[in-house]
Amino acid sequence: MHKDVVIAGAGPAGLACARAILTAAPGTDILLLEAGRAYRRRPCPVDRGRACTGCAGICNVISGFGGSMHYGDGAKLSLLPSGRRLIPHLGADRADELCETAFAWLTEPLGRTPELLGENLTGQAVDAFAAHQLRIREYPVAVIGESDLATVIAGWHDLLNPNLDLWHISELTDAKEHGQHLELTVRTGLSEERRISCDHLVLATGRRGVTSTTELLKQLGVPTELPDISVGVRLEMAVGLLKAIGEEHPDLKVSQLDHAQKIKSFCFCGGDNGGRIKVTNYQEAFGDPILTLDGHETTERTAGDRPLASNFGLLCQVQDRGNALEARDSFITTYRELAGGRPFAQTLRAFLTRRTGATSWSELQAGMPFQPSVLDLAAGPVDQLFTDAEHTSLTAGFRRFMGSILDHSRLGLSVDDILDDVLVVGPELEFLWDKPAIDADCKVPGLPIHVVGDSAGIAQGIVQAAMMGIAAGRAIATSTARTHAESR
Ligand SMILES: Cc1cc2nc3c(=O)[nH]c(=O)nc-3n(C[C@H](O)[C@H](O)[C@H](O)COP(=O)(O)OP(=O)(O)OC[C@H]3O[C@@H](n4cnc5c(N)ncnc54)[C@H](O)[C@@H]3O)c2cc1C
Repeated sequence: MHKDVVIAGAGPAGLACARAILTAAPGTDILLLEAGRAYRRRPCPVDRGRACTGCAGICNVISGFGGSMHYGDGAKLSLLPSGRRLIPHLGADRADELCETAFAWLTEPLGRTPELLGENLTGQAVDAFAAHQLRIREYPVAVIGESDLATVIAGWHDLLNPNLDLWHISELTDAKEHGQHLELTVRTGLSEERRISCDHLVLATGRRGVTSTTELLKQLGVPTELPDISVGVRLEMAVGLLKAIGEEHPDLKVSQLDHAQKIKSFCFCGGDNGGRIKVTNYQEAFGDPILTLDGHETTERTAGDRPLASNFGLLCQVQDRGNALEARDSFITTYRELAGGRPFAQTLRAFLTRRTGATSWSELQAGMPFQPSVLDLAAGPVDQLFTDAEHTSLTAGFRRFMGSILDHSRLGLSVDDILDDVLVVGPELEFLWDKPAIDADCKVPGLPIHVVGDSAGIAQGIVQAAMMGIAAGRAIATSTARTHAESR
């Protein structure tokens, strides 16, 4: 089988790439490979209060049509300057246009433009954070609720499916140069191996491909740069604590005015309905399976006996752990030793003081004044995941960040008032992707391969992934049109 273009990964990067090619060069013969399942067949047992079973080797949270835009969850679309490292990479004017196009395409199935928040914050919000030496990073953010994200994913499917070949449960496992073409190996759901040749390959493999794509690129002789690694925790609390600031800025991130040890908030899931902690299963990407955390904003959950939960991630740069790979391995080893590679939790008090807290999850969760969003957790010493320097950064960073949020909320509470009312859940791990050498079209120099989205190691996010997909797709369409013209 020969294809003009093979795209590995049907997340926002791969989908936007396919659309950009079909827009600029209709009739291009595209095969879209997706290691995961069809979009309606991606339930997560953890969302239903059950244990993570790994879903037969394919984590439905991060694999399947839609990629890490999980069907059934909400998401935030954060526009530039969120993901600002893309600006020098793509060029400022081009980056702006790509961001506008990506947002328009991602929201087109909704039939309306969602409201953008996150800019022109109130003086009270700015002042509350400045008092703690923090500045809120302002950029436009749209919150896409569960039903709306389902509409977006279904819309992409209906738009693309008739115009390309889409294979689910089909994983790209190898690529080799073969004359002018690439020779690909694809493992299908029947555990068969199929060989396909193509003119262009797009790697849009996101989280599931975090290590396998790097290996593939290395085999092809593509130089890669080690990533920066951040580690941290997710803090879960009653929805009322984060609501005020979450409604002003749904994707709250801060910069530190005094350049103290760098910590950052990540994937803020506050707002009126809070958010759900998500468990992502990396399968064998790091040896034996490990589970890490993320979060999705929600808009449609209903509270039971206790208020709903909201959460945010807090990360610091790794310290005292060697280079990026050594740091990653040392963190994962400690996680396995402490918790068997499965998420665990302790109270904020136990985390900050590094003292033993509740010994059972049932006791721990019952003591919380909100309904934890995940039940598949164990009680354990989350603080022990971190070196002393990392723990100092995280605790100091948390006090400043949460102190600002509480001041802004005008609830009359301080951090010390909520020590027994907040769950600290671990671990969070960020930026594990090696950065391959790619040009402004996301192309690997000298090879007909583009690397887009999270896999490119430049910026994370749905809009940012789509931007890179569009840039690559347009370049491929130009090249394909030239080849077709020459062969006529
Ligand atoms: C729980 C969670 C919540 C998030 N919330 C937000 C949010 O609210 N806003 C935001 O901007 N970002 C959010 N993110 C990050 C965002 O989802 C990602 O940055 C974005 O999806 C990256 O897009 P991508 O296309 O590069 O990769 P992905 O979306 O990860 O898609 C990659 C796809 O490639 C497939 N794949 C992998 N390897 C292969 C292979 N070898 N062959 C074939 N297919 C393969 C995978 O199965 C997957 O479907 C969240 C991430 C997670 C996990």
